[in-house]
Amino acid sequence: QSWAQAGLTEKVHLLLKKFQYEKPTPIQAQTIPAIMNGRDLIGIARTGSGKTLAFLLPMFRHIVAQPKSAPGEGMIALIMSPTRELALQIHVECKKFSKVLGLRTACVYGGASISEQIAELKRGADIVVCTPGRMIDILCANNKRITNLRRVTFLVLDEADRMFDMGFGPQINCIVDSIRPDRQTIMFSATFPPKVENVAKKILNKPLEIIA
Ligand code: AMP
Repeated sequence: QSWAQAGLTEKVHLLLKKFQYEKPTPIQAQTIPAIMNGRDLIGIARTGSGKTLAFLLPMFRHIVAQPKSAPGEGMIALIMSPTRELALQIHVECKKFSKVLGLRTACVYGGASISEQIAELKRGADIVVCTPGRMIDILCANNKRITNLRRVTFLVLDEADRMFDMGFGPQINCIVDSIRPDRQTIMFSATFPPKVENVAKKILNKPLEIIA
């Protein structure tokens, strides 16, 4: 497998080379073409498989293809993660590419000052990485019009099984229900118990199932 079949832009190719990501991992090779085609997808894969770039690379192309957002408009892509550590890790990977691509990012998670995160969102972000609880806090404090989900067309639930095990179900449902139904939705999970399968059925549209 090589990156050539992945439908990436020249800039992304150069960055992959720079970071010495020589070829796609098996999960990337299996999922990127389908996500690029606009399909909803559930990937069963663990940390270390390369799942983060599997959703980030198609996400960059999705965003770059959209009209530039006006000031005050919300994010185009929203990525949900169970923990602050994972959110920060995804954000680091995202920033490696977003700067060169001219995309703005923000990361919001619990256990840190909300005011700095609000300031980051108010400056404008095309991509937001979040933990569900803090995202709800920010959306509910929205009398100050911090941000909104109206423009979200690319949604990622990473480590979905862990998010539900940690009790984030109600927050996730609340966020997902506020996002337009014609979005593209990607879910990654290390395991695929009935609970996750039921959620997947509800929030994904005819998803492709890929098991790493
Ligand atoms: P993840 O499973 O997304 O947490 O990725 C695990 C690690 O693999 C991270 O440190 C990535 O930077 C790295 N990685 C992701 N994709 C590739 C690739 N195609 N080639 C080499 N390393 C990669």
